[in-house]
Amino acid sequence: MNAHDSERLAGLLDEAGYQAAADGETPDVVVFNTCAVRENAADRLYGNLGHLLPQKKKGMQIAVGGCLAQMERTRITQRAPWVDVVYGTHNMASLPALLERARVRNEAQAEFAETLETFPSLLPARRQSAYAAWVAISVGCNNTCTFCIVPSLRGKEKDRRPGDILGEIRALVADGVLEVTLLGQNVNSYGAEFGDRHAFGRLLRGCGEIGGLERVRFTSPHPRDFTDDVIEAMAETPNVMPSLHMPLQSGSDRILKAMRRAYRRDRYLAILDRVRAGIPDAAITTDIIVGFPGETEEDFADTLDLVRQASFAGAFTFRYSVRPGTPAAAMDDQVPAGVVQERYERLTALVEETTYAENQKLAGTTVEVLVAEGEGRKDAATHRMSGRARDNRLVHFTPDQTAPRPGDVVTVTVTRGAPHYLLSDATPLSVRRTQAGDAWAAAAASAPVSAAPVSAAPVPAAAPVLLGMPARHPAG
Ligand code: SF4
Repeated sequence: MNAHDSERLAGLLDEAGYQAAADGETPDVVVFNTCAVRENAADRLYGNLGHLLPQKKKGMQIAVGGCLAQMERTRITQRAPWVDVVYGTHNMASLPALLERARVRNEAQAEFAETLETFPSLLPARRQSAYAAWVAISVGCNNTCTFCIVPSLRGKEKDRRPGDILGEIRALVADGVLEVTLLGQNVNSYGAEFGDRHAFGRLLRGCGEIGGLERVRFTSPHPRDFTDDVIEAMAETPNVMPSLHMPLQSGSDRILKAMRRAYRRDRYLAILDRVRAGIPDAAITTDIIVGFPGETEEDFADTLDLVRQASFAGAFTFRYSVRPGTPAAAMDDQVPAGVVQERYERLTALVEETTYAENQKLAGTTVEVLVAEGEGRKDAATHRMSGRARDNRLVHFTPDQTAPRPGDVVTVTVTRGAPHYLLSDATPLSVRRTQAGDAWAAAAASAPVSAAPVSAAPVPAAAPVLLGMPARHPAG
């Protein structure tokens, strides 16, 4: 969600006449889009703000927004008085005006609204990818998971109208986008605000009617609200991909209750069974928190047991750590860090063993890969390219002489399954050049190629205002 918000912020600033700073160039404006869910978010923010102080003295403007800004509010300008603008999660649209006001009045500006007035999707966006896009369907959350800060910072769930969402997707497809990911804190409660319990399934089916849209994904579902009509819509809509990221958090009913997650392990496993019955090739991934307050060895054993039963294709595993402002932070039976670490290592080992076994089963099969940019860190060294299969598994493949572009679609034979990815070192069976690949090539051709040298000189009034993080220069 935050990454998509950053695209909106960049779009807003583009529209206001700002330009992105090239690599190595010192920007005139730096915007921090913060996330309070991350560990040590506040420490990292204040560390970064301190790092920028020397540039600030040369005229840089600094703005801080996002969840952490909503949480810290005026504390930010107290601890870092050189910050120019602080704005809340509902005030993104005001950023250009706040920067301007801070500049004209030469004083810090802060703006926090308690409710959302402009749905962020109505704001302009500068999309990171020519072939894949996030599309927000809702913001906020009506749940109250005790480890989570989101409801108190993002507010109650607000749902976008289906016609607006489908209209945005059609416009994206017309621009070359092949894949969309529908975004919401809890996509399965989508529609509650306008009284349609089956709105999310209907929305998936609506996506199925958009010609040229090849892949539809969504995140995050919630086991409490996950209903069979969504499984049916997934199974019956060919462009909805056979993948599901279903957060588990714990395999212990006692801990799920303490987390205020309103489902139990049996319900979770039953959903997986029904998804696999309807979509046999579905790859299911999850999130798990280890060491929630009060978690005993028996509770943890329940989590391990569920992981063994669930045959996950992947899992994001997290060590529980206190998030100030959440109910769990005040619980008095916090698990010692050493115990959390030891359980975490056992869980990650089991997850790796499971995902490795699942991936090995795919050796010799054929997968269709949407070629991506930046998915394979070692691609340059290995002469491979990377992308995602329909089930969202990461695939590294050898293009041989076929030269696909990001956004094109290749069909490859899996030669090996590794714990975290599939590998194909056979010549691709086919390469389909797509409108998305054309859009990627056009964007690459028009991208700025050289960075101007870094200069400490004041920017002339007529020069464009540059955005970004200043480059750290190598010592010496
Ligand atoms: Fe947070 Fe729970 Fe809402 Fe997810 S469902 S955003 S974890 S409160």
